[in-house]
Amino acid sequence: MKSKSPNTSLRTGTKAAEIRQAFLDHLTCSLGRLPAYASAHDHYLALALTVRDHVVHLGVSSFGGKESKPQRRVAYLSAEFLPGPHLANHLLNLGLSETARKALASLDIDLDAVLEQEEEPGLGNGGLGRLASCYLDSLATVGVQSIGYGIRYEFGIFDQQIRDGWQVEITDKWLHGGNPWEIHRPGAARDVGFGGHTESWTDDFGRHRVRWLPAITVRGEAYDTPISGYNSDHIALMRLWKSEATESFDFEAFNHGNYDRAVEQKVDSENLSKVLYPNDSFRHGKELRLKQQFFFSSCSLQDMLRILEMQGAGPENFHEHWAVQLNDTHPAVAVAELMRLLIDVHLLAWDQAWEITRATFSYTNHTLLPEALEKWPIDLFGELLPRHLEIILEINARFLDEVRAAFPGEDWRIARLSIIDENGPRYVRMAHLACVGSHTVNGVAELHSELVKQTVLADFAEIWPEKFTNVTNGVTPRRFVALANPGLSTLLSKAAGKTWPGKLSKLSKLEALADDAEFRAKWRQVKLANKSRLAELITERTGILTDPTSLFDVQVKRIHEYKRQHLNLLHILSLYLKIKRDPTADIPARTFIFGGKAAPGYFLAKQIIRISTAAGELINDDPDIAGRLKVVFFPDFNVRNAQYVYPAADLSEQISMAGMEASGTGNMKMSLNGALTIGTLDGANVEIREAVGEENFFLFGLTADEVSEVEVCGHHPRQHYESDTELRETIDFIASGALGGGSGLFQPLIANLLEHDPYLVLADFRAYGEAQQRVSELWTNPEDWARASILNTARMGKFSSDRSIREYCQRIWKVKPGKPSE
Ligand SMILES: *Cc1c(COP(=O)(O)O)cnc(C)c1O
Repeated sequence: MKSKSPNTSLRTGTKAAEIRQAFLDHLTCSLGRLPAYASAHDHYLALALTVRDHVVHLGVSSFGGKESKPQRRVAYLSAEFLPGPHLANHLLNLGLSETARKALASLDIDLDAVLEQEEEPGLGNGGLGRLASCYLDSLATVGVQSIGYGIRYEFGIFDQQIRDGWQVEITDKWLHGGNPWEIHRPGAARDVGFGGHTESWTDDFGRHRVRWLPAITVRGEAYDTPISGYNSDHIALMRLWKSEATESFDFEAFNHGNYDRAVEQKVDSENLSKVLYPNDSFRHGKELRLKQQFFFSSCSLQDMLRILEMQGAGPENFHEHWAVQLNDTHPAVAVAELMRLLIDVHLLAWDQAWEITRATFSYTNHTLLPEALEKWPIDLFGELLPRHLEIILEINARFLDEVRAAFPGEDWRIARLSIIDENGPRYVRMAHLACVGSHTVNGVAELHSELVKQTVLADFAEIWPEKFTNVTNGVTPRRFVALANPGLSTLLSKAAGKTWPGKLSKLSKLEALADDAEFRAKWRQVKLANKSRLAELITERTGILTDPTSLFDVQVKRIHEYKRQHLNLLHILSLYLKIKRDPTADIPARTFIFGGKAAPGYFLAKQIIRISTAAGELINDDPDIAGRLKVVFFPDFNVRNAQYVYPAADLSEQISMAGMEASGTGNMKMSLNGALTIGTLDGANVEIREAVGEENFFLFGLTADEVSEVEVCGHHPRQHYESDTELRETIDFIASGALGGGSGLFQPLIANLLEHDPYLVLADFRAYGEAQQRVSELWTNPEDWARASILNTARMGKFSSDRSIREYCQRIWKVKPGKPSE
């Protein structure tokens, strides 16, 4: 840590004068700018390079050390990471925020203006990528040697603009201003093959050998981004792979004047890591996607073998040196790739290789949604990865033989367990591959982990019950409280001591203060200030004026039918109609805030965005409403914006159809920041409610069991429409065209609800409205609300990602964190 050894290095000094000097040196020597002519962006780059020196210095000491007995390292394989802006987070972790502010102030530079300059790496869609980044943060914090492996997408998740009420996607050019955080490692580059064919022969020792002769080879270039931990001398590494052509040009083609063909392969190779697929919780059946998955899985495993060799160990010790976590099935092909590397390249026998593989991998399931379960047409798979298909078929044959031996006469198990789906056109089922190839499979919240065992992987849970476990997700309190909510942080430090960001269970000390009127007043002041800050931002971005004293009712997350933003909208419109009918209706002022991106090809999700902007256009300036209701769609929900939104929430909308949201993490971020939740018994909501107390949580809706019952028995959305006057009037109102755009505009959404309603919006409408009524009632008593808000924060200690990571370390990876537990 900063003060451990007396530091005389010019680059890592921690006094304001030293930081100031390092900053000026970077400005001139690294960026070639005269301080007098430097732009705000130059200031950002120079400070980033200054801070990077500190972090990299820590990294070299924590990674480079030659321990007598090397610790098992963790490799977290994830196709997505969503780190958010790095600079402020490093300053916080290093304890340098105030010093840096002082150093810059002495040069007449405002730190906040500098922080504004950073482009965040949008290398993920939403919760899954953000989880991976929270976990790297915690790995560094608790002190585990770890690498998060992924893809360095040139274009991450699109930037969202709202034009005429609709989402418009803008290319994310996050690298255009330069990326000061990454370090290119040419020495770590690895080659990855695609296509071609395999050959087998018997070698001089009489061994059956197979070699893969790929048709093309792509080079993976390694780019390292250091991830600091809180008050920690460890750093984690995010190592992202960029694809490049192995040769710059096909010179033969070039010399024959075929310029097009000469550049073709180069372009194809570079396209591999060009862009992130922008669908959340949805399978992409595209060949390029499979290529991306194999590309980063292969690069990462080859990298681990390279490091192993540097440590003087052999491939037969792979599992002793590496615990590899598969974040969903996106990297599941790694199971086959490790087998290939061990057998074909390192010449291990099958049985030994298989033992090593299974001792290495563990797999996290993130979804039960059928449309998100990855499967690849076997022909496509075989054309792209012929050797891997052979290996998968061999794994499958041996696995199914074991099943037959263990369950004689129960052949029905075979088709259900097989890695190959043979019901019709044949597919490789990636969840089955991940499950067979892993020693442990976990879900991400208690309910979800149970449902994994009862549904998608039920047949596996029956034969291997001990393989399945739960690790409830968590979020980092550094970024999402200490950084995002400085007002609250000050209050928490006074009330619970300064150590809470690294020991979140300390927050329980707040409990007693919930009954302290003076403390509640301060608590409310902080929330109000956060809401004012967000209100300003809302006006700046949308032109909408909001009242910070109104209830801020927030639903921010990817737009998806299963998350049911349209249930929220039906409720808003029903309140609107109520006030129109009866201007004296007792409805406390509310500001409804939506945010989130819709997948570009997801028509209904885009309709949901449009209906929320239409509701705003209708309601916000209606003189009859007189500002009592406001509806805001906050554009471009990303990590930076999230840091403004979560701390300003009074009410957290977690209203997915029960059984659909694996965990959710937005729910944790908001409750930790003192929002009360209105939610279904879904994902981690269940555990949040248990933790904060049922009297501090607004529960409604069908349970997961009731949902499956309805699904089995069939349901009739029209019956709800017919029998519930309020619901009928609201839907008729939308269908009438009163929201503008003509009566046909929202017809697809209305028809979907009335004819299919796959996520039971209409079935839960009444219960939701009643829960919202309870919200309004509590809101009218600010003291009671503040008490419940304090208790939410006080009781959320469990949901730190440090706790999740310690569970993975202890129960799954078998590694010992450097920092002892709380
Ligand atoms: C936490 C987070 C999410 C996940 O939100 P859910 O409500 O759990 O779906 C998505 N996007 C960003 C930017 C986040 O910070």
